[in-house]
Amino acid sequence: DRALVWFRRDLRVDDHAALYHALRSARQVFCAFVLDRDILDALPRADRRVEFILGALRVLDDDLRRLGGALVVRHGAAADEIPRLAAELGVQAVFANHDDEPAALARDARVADRLKSSGCELRTFKDHVIFERREVMTATGGAYGVFTPYKNAWLRKVDAFYLSSYPVERHATALAPTPLATGVPALADIGFQPAGLIAHVGQGSRGAEALLDDFLDRIADYGDKRDFPAVKGPSYLSVHLRFGTVSIRRLARLAHQRMQGGDRGAEVWLSELIWRDFYHQVMHHHPHAMTAAFRPEYDAIQWETGEHADTLLKAWREGRTGFPLVDAAMRQLHQTGYMHNRLRMVTASFLTKDLGLDWRRGEAWFAQQLLDFDLAANNGGWQWASSSGCDAQPYFRIFNPTAQSEKFDADGRFIRRYCPELAALDNKAIHAPWDRAPLAMQGVDYPRPVVDHAIARERTLARYAVVKSRK
Ligand code: FAD
Repeated sequence: DRALVWFRRDLRVDDHAALYHALRSARQVFCAFVLDRDILDALPRADRRVEFILGALRVLDDDLRRLGGALVVRHGAAADEIPRLAAELGVQAVFANHDDEPAALARDARVADRLKSSGCELRTFKDHVIFERREVMTATGGAYGVFTPYKNAWLRKVDAFYLSSYPVERHATALAPTPLATGVPALADIGFQPAGLIAHVGQGSRGAEALLDDFLDRIADYGDKRDFPAVKGPSYLSVHLRFGTVSIRRLARLAHQRMQGGDRGAEVWLSELIWRDFYHQVMHHHPHAMTAAFRPEYDAIQWETGEHADTLLKAWREGRTGFPLVDAAMRQLHQTGYMHNRLRMVTASFLTKDLGLDWRRGEAWFAQQLLDFDLAANNGGWQWASSSGCDAQPYFRIFNPTAQSEKFDADGRFIRRYCPELAALDNKAIHAPWDRAPLAMQGVDYPRPVVDHAIARERTLARYAVVKSRK
């Protein structure tokens, strides 16, 4: 009559599906997290996400202690540690929330097998999205491939049942202090160095709470402000959604209620949360798209390769392409681990359509740099930009990086923040410094454009022509 809750991308106590189900079904419930060496050993030694996770675990441990439990943290391969913990604690079941990434599903299958051989079961629950897997399907039982009809079906299906919270605290008496060592290790204990986590992200679920409070005061303006990177428009909650330090049900419920009260900003924001569900169901139905083009005909595209392509990739990563908005965005990513959504679209389009580089090279850089890196959303975003994805941007619609800059950072505020060497330029020159203010640029350490957009555009149309002939 004992259970173990295995926390993964759900580092909170509040409204937690697996914890709730464990508390309802066992008399003694233990809690654990594994710092999974199968994942961690491949990362650079300074990684903001590892720092974020440790902070989140400390808050989680505090919250569990407040309710009478505690967190056991192990550093090893999850497939070994979980069965070992289950045996040490003598539990009959391990409870966890679904993680639908292909690698996580494979890991869970291994854990389930090993548990089974010692008479223990792995029980998993939906927690990370509002609708998962096959919950929202077309009338003929197929998976949605276009966002708007998916969203409409999502909105038709959603109701109080799907949005209500699991009342964990009401059943918390089953939380048990563990006989095993508890406590969260320091970064150095697991072989990592500080990576400089930006302060406003906050610590675990407490950080999420502060960001949410702040956002709810300005959610009504979200629709008008979300596209301008110099403005505080979005919620900045993505890292918390990624690691589950905030509950998606709570966010969707708040947005849905406000939307029903006529709040347009909340309606637009809810739509973004539905994009998140959308890409998660794409990952479930089309796991092949996590490594190849969602539309196979796009795999025929010949991307630039060789030394020059590598030089271009390096310039893009370092924010030295000579296109100020692209460069400011890439520096924001590198310095903070965050990039504004508009800029993710601009920089991804620039990589694929101006530099002619394989979207997977950009995807991999984002995966390494983003604090909120999420396979489903990142892959979806990259395949949207490269036109190879589900409901993607058509390939002949190519962002002009200078026009994007003039439209979304008209007064150059965002550019000046991350490219201080351009700060003295006027509001027109700052979008294309070498073209518009060549004299002022003499002696400034800022590169000339690495490509000519008009020529690159023609090349891209030619490159993508192969797609048409294969359709
Ligand atoms: P808000 O505007 O406040 O949106 C609220 C939440 O909605 C976000 O936190 C996120 O969970 C979800 N959301 C918003 N837009 C999208 C979207 N297009 N797709 C899926 N979910 C969305 N988002 C990630 O969470 N992780 C990623 O790795 C990621 N990679 C991306 C790569 C590219 C090339 C592109 C174009 C987009 C990517 N996004 C990714 C989506 C989006 O840019 C971020 O979710 C958003 O910028 C996060 O900031 P926020 O929390 O302030 O967003």
